[in-house]
Amino acid sequence: MSFASLGLNAAILKAVEKQGYDTPSPIQAQAIPAVLAGQDVMAAAQTGTGKTAGFTLPILEILSKGNRAQRGQVRALVLTPTRELAAQVQESVATYGINLPLKSAVVFGGVSIIPQLAALRNGVDILVATPGRLLDLCQQKAISFSKLEILVLDEADRMLDMGFIRDIKKVLALLPPKRQNLMFSATFSDEIRELAKGLVNNPVEISVTPRNATANTVTQCVYPLDKTRKSTALIELIKTNDWKQVLVFSRTKHGANRLAKSLEAANIKAAAIHGNKSQTARTKALADFKAGTVQVMVATDIAARGIDIDQLPFVVNFDLPNVPEDYVHRIGRTGRAGSTGQAVSLVGLEEVKLLHDIERLIKRTIERKQLAGFEAPFTIPEAGSRSGGHKANSVKKPNPNRSKHAQQNTNNADKPERKYDSRQQARSNDGQSQGASKPKAPGNRQEAIANGNKPPQRNRPPRRSGAGNSSATSGTATSSNTGSAPASKASVNPYANAKIRS
Ligand code: AMP
Repeated sequence: MSFASLGLNAAILKAVEKQGYDTPSPIQAQAIPAVLAGQDVMAAAQTGTGKTAGFTLPILEILSKGNRAQRGQVRALVLTPTRELAAQVQESVATYGINLPLKSAVVFGGVSIIPQLAALRNGVDILVATPGRLLDLCQQKAISFSKLEILVLDEADRMLDMGFIRDIKKVLALLPPKRQNLMFSATFSDEIRELAKGLVNNPVEISVTPRNATANTVTQCVYPLDKTRKSTALIELIKTNDWKQVLVFSRTKHGANRLAKSLEAANIKAAAIHGNKSQTARTKALADFKAGTVQVMVATDIAARGIDIDQLPFVVNFDLPNVPEDYVHRIGRTGRAGSTGQAVSLVGLEEVKLLHDIERLIKRTIERKQLAGFEAPFTIPEAGSRSGGHKANSVKKPNPNRSKHAQQNTNNADKPERKYDSRQQARSNDGQSQGASKPKAPGNRQEAIANGNKPPQRNRPPRRSGAGNSSATSGTATSSNTGSAPASKASVNPYANAKIRS
């Protein structure tokens, strides 16, 4: 199949060709015709599948046919959970729309609202926004949605996870009822289906398997390690293998900072990105990492979400994620575009259960390796028994004294940078006030999350309370990248195009 056969105009095809894409990815092959036909779409697709072009290209096609946006108006609105993703989506819009007379803009918090007000004044055809800042702009009467034609909810699952449900509902209440709705989410959870009920009408449902769930281009391995030796082991791995461009995942913000410092102390240029870093610092770290002046970027899951770097060769799980799906998402950063990648996990004794959960999810046993000089005081059994053979209590401890020591070191006082941490976290990812009050997430909720269970509903993060809490201070509104890795590894779900009940 070619892009030309999908019904896109010559100006768009030229831009696509310039990106070097010759074949639509599975999500594009399914979403583009559906969107062009004016249908609502509900798509399960993660970053890396080519989903952005999947909605951007047909939107550009549709908008290029109608009347240009009038003063203060928006014709298509794309909502994203994070600033990074918003910036990347807008860059894609600009890239694919380069030959069209359409205007686009991106708005998110954490930067000055003034240029954003100016950008919206004369109207934009496509607006990419994070929910909090969008509501602030609406409150200032900077935008009119009376002529809105298309709404896109990108990474809807993350939006819910980050506590944006009320903001989303507030935005929906501002939109005209007659519009086309496109919803993208990594998974179709019950919560997502609930949200979809009030959003999409008789949608075409599309599902593509996360690319990396089937990708053989990523080599995965695990190093069992004493927790206290993880940093030095990582330094050893990076130096002896001469790894360049390593994305390291840390569960906590403090852990990310500490590790970046240790790497720097070992003469490895490193930067940490997480929710406590300013937008400017995050943008700079990412740019330096891409340029190769920063060799290692240490990131929390939230900060890394949506970052698209072409052909990232190494991903390291310094800590395993609490949620097994996050592992799949993390390692999806490497091995793109048919290039090979390596995903290395440093696993402490206390993380064995998490590793087994991941192996159950990906339905394979990850190769165990030993790093000379860093042999762990325990071994991790491989998969195999009827129950999956993944029981953490079957961990072998060759040296009881040393393993006791390892156990004692498992009390990590740092809280994980979880999407649920608090309203402050959600705000910081939306670029809202860093100084806003920080109500603590109730313990039982945190616990449920730490155990990988569904958190209790009544403990959802509290709602944001309007412009009074936002602090737009300085900076500019855009910064981003797009890459050129193809997403052709996705496999098409046989149930694609099935209708969902609404
Ligand atoms: P996305 O899932 O939208 O984040 O896209 C992931 C990456 O795939 C981005 O770097 C895109 O530039 C790239 N990409 C999107 N569509 C295609 C395609 N049809 N062929 C090759 N690369 C693509």
